[in-house]
Amino acid sequence: MAAKSLQELFVEELRDMYDGEKRLTKALPRMAKAAESEELGAAFTNHLRETEKQVQRLEQVFRTIGEPVRGKKCDGIMGIVEEGKHAMDELEGSVLDAALIAGAQKVEHYEIASYGTLAYFAELLGNDKAKDLLGQTLDEEKAADEKLSTIAKSKVNREALMGAGTEDERYEYARSTRHGSRRSSGRAMAHDRSRGGVRGNAGGRRRRS
Ligand code: FE
Ligand code: ZN
Ligand code: FE
Repeated sequence: MAAKSLQELFVEELRDMYDGEKRLTKALPRMAKAAESEELGAAFTNHLRETEKQVQRLEQVFRTIGEPVRGKKCDGIMGIVEEGKHAMDELEGSVLDAALIAGAQKVEHYEIASYGTLAYFAELLGNDKAKDLLGQTLDEEKAADEKLSTIAKSKVNREALMGAGTEDERYEYARSTRHGSRRSSGRAMAHDRSRGGVRGNAGGRRRRS
C-alpha cells in the first residue's frame, strides 16, 4: 500500500475490511453447515446476517468520504479462512467444532483490531458519521467473539475432550490436569494447543464433569 496520508490509509484499511467481510459472507454459510453443534451453527448463521449488515455499513462509510465502494484483497482474513478449510477437510465431530470456533475467534480478533483502528481514524479525521458506523460494527464483532467463547466453554471443548483422541491421550490429559502441572509444563501446553485452544476458547479451569 502506498498511502501518503492518514486519510489515504483510512481508505486502504476500509478496502481491506470490505474485501474481508465479503469473504466472510461466503465462509460463514460453509462453517454453519459444517458445525456439529446446533448452537454453534446458529451462531454462525446469526453472524452471517450481521456480516451482511457490516458490508452495507462499510458502503455507507465509503459514501461519507466520497470514495468509490471498492475492496482490496485482505490477505489476513483470506489466510484464516484457508486454515478453516483445512480444518473442515481433516477434522470431524466436536473436534471440528472446536477448530471452527478457534478459527472464527481469530477472525473476530482481526476484525476487532481493524474496526478499532478504523473508528479511531474516523474520529481523528473528524468524520462522526463514519466513527459511529464503524463503532457499531466493532461492538458486533466483540459480541460475536464473546458468544463464541461462551459456546466453547459451555460445551464444545469439553465434548471434544471427552469424545476424541486415543485412550492414551485422554489418560495423559486427565493425569496432567489432575496433578496441576499443566500451567508450567510445556508438554501440557502443547497438548492444549492440539485441542484447538485459543484465548477464550481454552478458558480458565477445565473440569471433566
Ligand atoms: Fe465482520
Ligand atoms: Zn486484511
Ligand atoms: Fe465478525
